[in-house]
Amino acid sequence: MAITREGRICSFCGEPGGPGTDLRLIGGLGAQVCERCVDDFHGILHDEATYAEARGSFPWERMDDAELLATLPQILASAEQNTAFAHEWVDLLRSRNISWAEIGRALGVSRQAAWERFSRRSPDKGATA
Ligand SMILES: [Zn+2]
Repeated sequence: MAITREGRICSFCGEPGGPGTDLRLIGGLGAQVCERCVDDFHGILHDEATYAEARGSFPWERMDDAELLATLPQILASAEQNTAFAHEWVDLLRSRNISWAEIGRALGVSRQAAWERFSRRSPDKGATA
């Protein structure tokens, strides 16, 4: 069981990246960030005036309605990517023979609840192993 960056999107801008693309991604806990967003955020965080300006308002406050609508599918794609990652993570745990009871304990739910949530993989990632 290998968790890869193939087919992932940047969780911050929605651009596809990773293997097979020209956009490098890094990340953890399911979130991915592309090199362009890293550079942009680095610039914001390391320039006091830009940082103060960025902290003064939220980006969506400056968006028109069309931009807000265009962003909605990106938000859902990022959320779905994180959900798929959680399923892959549970598959990894199961491949290491971690029991459903242990997974449930880590999540603060019963073995049954953990199994019901994660025993079937998401439709785009193939059948239950
Ligand atoms: Zn990005």
